[in-house]
Amino acid sequence: MGTTYSIRLADSPLDRGALRRLQGDVDAALAEVNRQMSTWDPGSEISRFNRAGANEPVAISPDFQLVVRRALEIAEATGGAFDPTVGALVNLWGFGPDGLRRAPPTPDQIAAARAVIGWRHLRLLPDGRLEKDIADLKLDLGAIAKGFGVDRVAALLRERGIENFLVEIGGETLGVGRNDQGEPWRVGVLKPDGSADLQGVARLTDGRAIATSGDYRNFYRDENGELRAHIVDPRTAAPVGHAVASVSVLADDCLTADALATALFVLGPEEGLPLFAAQFPGVEALFLLRRENGRFEEVATPGFAGAAGYAP
Ligand code: ADP
Ligand code: MG
Repeated sequence: MGTTYSIRLADSPLDRGALRRLQGDVDAALAEVNRQMSTWDPGSEISRFNRAGANEPVAISPDFQLVVRRALEIAEATGGAFDPTVGALVNLWGFGPDGLRRAPPTPDQIAAARAVIGWRHLRLLPDGRLEKDIADLKLDLGAIAKGFGVDRVAALLRERGIENFLVEIGGETLGVGRNDQGEPWRVGVLKPDGSADLQGVARLTDGRAIATSGDYRNFYRDENGELRAHIVDPRTAAPVGHAVASVSVLADDCLTADALATALFVLGPEEGLPLFAAQFPGVEALFLLRRENGRFEEVATPGFAGAAGYAP
């Protein structure tokens, strides 16, 4: 996934040997997610699917099926703001396997990429095989796979009888039980200005997860000085560019939090907030909007502060 992970255990029932074995098992579980869903690995199942032709169903592993099923549900529920087929566009704007670029793509290149995206071109067959009806369509689970990885590791820890832990992959985080002080786990929400300063602190327990998407970590400035970040609005075929600097989402699983953080970053608060109250009960969101003099304005769902125990 091109990032790091960390796990904290409080009151671990495991001895040193068991912890070492657990670490090996966590590494193996995450390597397995990569082997299925990483577009950076040419030998992965997803890379094989991306090379397949139109209407040639490809067999994929059960976990991969689950992630695709959820990705399609979330694409539908967000009116396509979240779209797991944006790979060609992400690559075109300099955030895919082809690497960075300084000059914006030409209108022809954008039109060509646009012609090969769209989640409705992707179908999970009843037998679990995956199919597309456009050969050049590129599946990209970069906005959801880390969250799934967190859920996967959390399930592994629970299986081993561990009851108090925090799991984090590249910033997407899930907390179960309590920390060393017997309190809910505390997770910082970064100020989205590239610094290490915190905007606030959220509290996680009972398997709640928090994920953040933003334009402050993975971005570059093009030759015109425009900020280009790695989340693409499938409706405009361009990187999202508005006042939203980051969105943090709280949900009962990290896959959902991860995908919805990306979707809400595309939608912004005006389009996003009404949609989410209706579509996703139990999900809460915090938008940080860029304002003059380097300040950030907080816009949140009514339940965010209570549900996250969030304190600015
Ligand atoms: P991060 O990886 O920084 O946590 P995200 O979870 O938001 O950020 O994932 C961003 C990645 O998701 C991009 O690098 C790209 O692979 C993919 N992506 C970009 N735009 C979209 C979109 N509109 N819908 C789904 N996936 C997207
Ligand atoms: Mg995401």
